[in-house]
Amino acid sequence: MRFGFAIWFWGVLLGCFALMALRLGMSSQHSAGAAAPLGEVAFTPAAEAAVSELPFVGPPIPLDDPTRTIAAALGRGDSIDRSLKSHRFPSDQLELLYQALYAILSPAQVKPGDYYEVVVDSSDVIRRFRYTPHRTPDRPIEVELCEGQFVAHQLQLPLERRVERLEVRIENNLSNAISKAGEGSTLSDVIADDIFGAVIDFQRDPRRGDRLGIVFEKLYIDEHFVRYGHILLAQYEGERVTELAVRYAPSEGEDSYYNASGRSLGRMFVLKPLGVNRITSHFSRQRFHPVLKKQRPHLGTDYGAPTGTLVWTTARGEVAYAGWKGGYGKLVEIVHPNGYRTRYAHLSKIVVRKGQLVQQKEIIGKVGATGLATGPHLHYEIIKDGHHINPEHINRGSAIPSIADDLLADFVHKRDALLHVLSLGPRHLAFHSTSTPLTSSLP
Ligand SMILES: [Zn+2]
Repeated sequence: MRFGFAIWFWGVLLGCFALMALRLGMSSQHSAGAAAPLGEVAFTPAAEAAVSELPFVGPPIPLDDPTRTIAAALGRGDSIDRSLKSHRFPSDQLELLYQALYAILSPAQVKPGDYYEVVVDSSDVIRRFRYTPHRTPDRPIEVELCEGQFVAHQLQLPLERRVERLEVRIENNLSNAISKAGEGSTLSDVIADDIFGAVIDFQRDPRRGDRLGIVFEKLYIDEHFVRYGHILLAQYEGERVTELAVRYAPSEGEDSYYNASGRSLGRMFVLKPLGVNRITSHFSRQRFHPVLKKQRPHLGTDYGAPTGTLVWTTARGEVAYAGWKGGYGKLVEIVHPNGYRTRYAHLSKIVVRKGQLVQQKEIIGKVGATGLATGPHLHYEIIKDGHHINPEHINRGSAIPSIADDLLADFVHKRDALLHVLSLGPRHLAFHSTSTPLTSSLP
């Protein structure tokens, strides 16, 4: 008797844990799965930030028959078919359902964590099936039984855009601080690469105690976080660097980040052609060559990195050379506007072709040790009008124009409104954050 109770008790407890684990797993997938690009939503003035701009599509079909609903989430290795069959639906019904469903949904889009809902009538006939991808819950696919036929369509559910603020203090690095605050790594990537990429080196500059404040958009369906919108303002106050970035559109559709005085934070060249910071050899007009064993100029910067590390272009341009070139080994050379060229040497793999147009930070190849190299590293050169210049000095100038005088008053107004939002929170929180919906208090 006692033994039986113990089994029952632990069974119930384990069951609860399993359920909790499933729910936790799903909710963390919701927040961490917010990997959708931040360019998703157009910038809107702060006053309109809470407006849900999309109409609700697909009213529920009226079902007079007594019905029941089955809801389930797909587990790892699960398929829709396996999951539905476990509910013993007749296979001919399922066949017809799939014909309609897979006209819209590609089987490759089916992922663990996705969930579905089936509405069946009293004769166990499927009347409606709704499939919701967990990464894009605003885009469910609905299949309805209409006059004996299944008809599928994709819905676009309205997203609510909330403007929130977040303040973190850096303990060791930016992404740890942001994940400790309960936000996803998408945010730290955008802050480090897209917003401050040209002015703060987040592998080298941060010091313990530095502060970061952001005002940013989060998109919700009901109370469920779906993904991030734009970061409207970011303020970094550190021991080595202090920078403000304000998102602003000086002309139609051209959103970009500007500092407090309206100077663009965008640069023609990003700091580095890869995600490592270890410079193994600096630019020099005269140095001892480790392979040739004699004095030779070193007209570039060497980054030590494991073979296979991704290499990207530092500015947009056109591929002028892609292939083997003597001591350079596998080389990519790119021509940029204003008389600039860049070279990326000793690659193990090249993924672009001559003549191809490339964007800033587009992947062009992988680190290797081809040509005259003692070990895997990237040799990176910048040439201006035929003369080599030191790549470590390139980022001092800005190529994107500052905000024009006639827009400056508007810019300052928007900047101050966002700074006001940021100032509403406590300023010196250690290792945690305030993340407060502010839609109602926006100016
Ligand atoms: Zn080199």
